[in-house]
Amino acid sequence: MNKLLVILSSGSLITLGWVFGKLGLMELNAAAMILAAVIAGYPIAKRAFFALKFKVIGIDLLVSIAAIGAIIIGEYWEAAVVTFLFAFGAYLEARAITQTRNALQSLIDLTPKTASVRRDGEEIIVPAEEVRVLETVIVRSGEKLPVDGIVIRGDGYVNQASITGESMPVSKEPGSEVYSGTICETGYLEVETKRVGEDTTFARIISLVEEAQDSKAPTQRFIERFAKYYTPAVIALSIITYAITRDAKLALTLLVIACPGALVIATPISIVSGIGNGARNGILIKGGEHIERAGKVDAVFFDKTGTLTKGLPQVTNIQGLGNTSEIEVLRIANAAEEGSEHHLARAIKEAYKESGDTNPLPAMDSFLIVPGKGVIATLDGQEILVGNRRLLEDNELDTTSVSEDLEAMETKGETAVLVAAGGQIKGIIGIADTVRDEAKEVIARLRKQGIKRIVMLTGDNKRSAQHIASIVGITEVKADLLPEDKLRILDEYRKAGHTVAMVGDGINDAPAMAQADIGIAMGGIGSDVAIETADIALMEDKLDKIPYAIGLSRATLRNISINVSFAVAVVFSLLIGVLAGVVFLSSGMLIHEISVLLVILNASRLLAYKERRG
Ligand code: ADP
Ligand code: MG
Repeated sequence: MNKLLVILSSGSLITLGWVFGKLGLMELNAAAMILAAVIAGYPIAKRAFFALKFKVIGIDLLVSIAAIGAIIIGEYWEAAVVTFLFAFGAYLEARAITQTRNALQSLIDLTPKTASVRRDGEEIIVPAEEVRVLETVIVRSGEKLPVDGIVIRGDGYVNQASITGESMPVSKEPGSEVYSGTICETGYLEVETKRVGEDTTFARIISLVEEAQDSKAPTQRFIERFAKYYTPAVIALSIITYAITRDAKLALTLLVIACPGALVIATPISIVSGIGNGARNGILIKGGEHIERAGKVDAVFFDKTGTLTKGLPQVTNIQGLGNTSEIEVLRIANAAEEGSEHHLARAIKEAYKESGDTNPLPAMDSFLIVPGKGVIATLDGQEILVGNRRLLEDNELDTTSVSEDLEAMETKGETAVLVAAGGQIKGIIGIADTVRDEAKEVIARLRKQGIKRIVMLTGDNKRSAQHIASIVGITEVKADLLPEDKLRILDEYRKAGHTVAMVGDGINDAPAMAQADIGIAMGGIGSDVAIETADIALMEDKLDKIPYAIGLSRATLRNISINVSFAVAVVFSLLIGVLAGVVFLSSGMLIHEISVLLVILNASRLLAYKERRG
């Protein structure tokens, strides 16, 4: 039978029974109450029975015993009301939980069901999941994007709030990536499809959030372990009470009021709300465990390149040494960096493209990436080194002759990349990156939040690291690090008792992010790696989501502890109430259900959480 129907019919029977009672028709009163108890109690007893088969003693069993016991001792009204309230409470609880979860539903609804595609030169409308990869999708002003892809024609402004939480429209032009679920506010876009349906970034985020909401936080695991012993203990207590007092009503009341209903949902409901709030603000928190740990963070480590800086470094300086010309230095470096995706490599390749050089490029024979140092390539049979001082020294090249040039560049905040060919230094390329606009303010906010240690970790040289650090207001700088040094330093802080968050750009920082208590990756929207490896992925490349994520996690922790202490307090007060003889079956159940709803209400405040600034 439908749940609502169960509640309605048992509720009406109770009312009817009450009227019969007032009229002095006691047999009819008893019949109506028993029927009400059977209707509302049958599904509860059935669940209790199935749980018992799996050796699980749960709340359903407590309620069933209490109701049956009440009928046996002739307390029909108590039996009817207890089962009715329990069913009604469970119904309201389920609804409230669905509603909390549905904070995400509004996001899911953003995915359009149809798409305009160009097939055989004609524009037709097809269901969104039937668009094929590489097919051209047409999006007009005001329409939602049905697929992930790359703009091939047209331009416009797209609101990506569904993914990033940021409603400021982003400009798109040919070559830009666009994402399903975002809205083309103005303009006209022709998009070459890359991913459709379940594979889109948006669909994956939704499913990750749903998974995260179901994952268990440590507090919850503890409470569940506790509940396993608690319920049988309550049954034992009630039997003992009966043995001593011979008061069946008291013994049955004990069963009901000891139900740990509010306690069981206290943690998960807060976690669901906290994760839901994050998702709506472009912060993907991968589970209850992570939100609990993020709430305890007291040390934040930042990678420099691509995290504190924009990660779009540009060549600002080229020096040719001896009789090597500047363009030759750039040409060699460009050819050697061919296979590297490093920020610096990209800057070099970009600068070369813009130089307009038309000379033929040397042919690549071999190529090796040396992490934290640079690259080694063989071009036309000659060994080329492109990287930092350490790379050259590792390969027996003396760098003292260029020390002064390097220092001069580094003091200006440039990263100096040395270029050597055939055992000789041919030139130096100075590359500079700009600091993110919001970096300084974010560091100040983190300090205000009471984060004790804020540290910059970088493989770059000390001088340019110091330069960036002084701009953003970081005083602890660890520079010249190899990837393994970063792990060691993180470990030292953890051993010293800090809860450490590592903020990185997801690609070369994955090991450090895994080593930290909490790995926070920037730029989730463009990078699957970032989404997969991080504990918290920031969809947008915006540092100000970090203090937000920490504030939200702390608020979630506070919310959990309010819920848990409230739930425990209710159980204890009820226990005292029963022993003092003022609380009985039905009133105990009523208070219980109210406390469950209050816990849900408290958790839903998290959905409205906003960071307090200033
Ligand atoms: P970060 O910690 O700043 O992200 P990495 O560990 O990636 O830095 O690299 C550290 C240093 O190694 C760089 O600052 C640079 O000097 C050198 N390096 C690494 N990869 C390359 C490359 N592909 N080309 C030139 N230099 C490189
Ligand atoms: Mg980096």
